[in-house]
Amino acid sequence: MSERTEVHRSPHKQNHDPEVAKSIISRALVAHVAISVDGQPFALPVACAPFKDELLLHGSNASRLFKALMDGTPACVTITHVEGLVLARSSYESSMHYQSLMALGSARLISEGEKRPALQALTAHLFPQRPSELRQSTEQEVNATSIVAFPLNEISVKVSHGQPKDKDFDMDSDIWAGILPIKVSYGQPIPADNLRPGIPVPDYIATWVAG
Ligand SMILES: Cc1cc2nc3c(=O)[nH]c(=O)nc-3n(C[C@H](O)[C@H](O)[C@H](O)COP(=O)(O)OP(=O)(O)OC[C@H]3O[C@@H](n4cnc5c(N)ncnc54)[C@H](O)[C@@H]3O)c2cc1C
Repeated sequence: MSERTEVHRSPHKQNHDPEVAKSIISRALVAHVAISVDGQPFALPVACAPFKDELLLHGSNASRLFKALMDGTPACVTITHVEGLVLARSSYESSMHYQSLMALGSARLISEGEKRPALQALTAHLFPQRPSELRQSTEQEVNATSIVAFPLNEISVKVSHGQPKDKDFDMDSDIWAGILPIKVSYGQPIPADNLRPGIPVPDYIATWVAG
């Protein structure tokens, strides 16, 4: 932890367990990447995947965000998992259960030699088991993609899992209070309109749906 990643607001929610950080990253499909352009901050959602001890981010060569990341522009990357609603007896005390991670630093451009394995890792993270079925990306597709690795050596993790903390004068209220967990799950697969007839849904997708 650095001075910049020390949690000041609700410091008891800061979590230093590397396994919690690992779990937040391993469940993430999307990270929000914030950069400042001419003094204006922009926070953009992008797909992400763990890669060794870094976080992979990829995008079009034409993307302003990726041009900035490739130039080593300082960035802030956040990953958020909202895990429940905390339904308190007042709006003031109502909140959320969450696990969130913030990483500060500058991305490094993935070298030519690492590019295909990195893209493979990204696909395998987002669509497990599918890479073995998919055709190889063409040189043109690979060349059109920028891929960077964001460092995870200056991070903070904040975890909020508490009970509603209502004021004493609200405790006689008849209003229901508690936690409503939020679960993220896949729905039933919908075949593409142009899918050739007779192609079954792969078994591995059933395992994703089953969770
Ligand atoms: C789903 C969700 C909903 C939230 N809703 C609200 C809300 O409505 N209002 C509100 O005030 N706050 C909310 N928070 C908390 C919010 O993210 C900030 O932690 C909080 O506002 C304190 O901001 P600060 O700038 O004072 O943080 P400080 O404690 O001053 O930040 C210092 C350092 O702590 C770390 N840090 C701070 N927040 C986080 C975080 N969330 N995750 C990881 N590291 C962090 C960073 O490294 C940061 O540089 C929410 C968080 C989540 C995940």
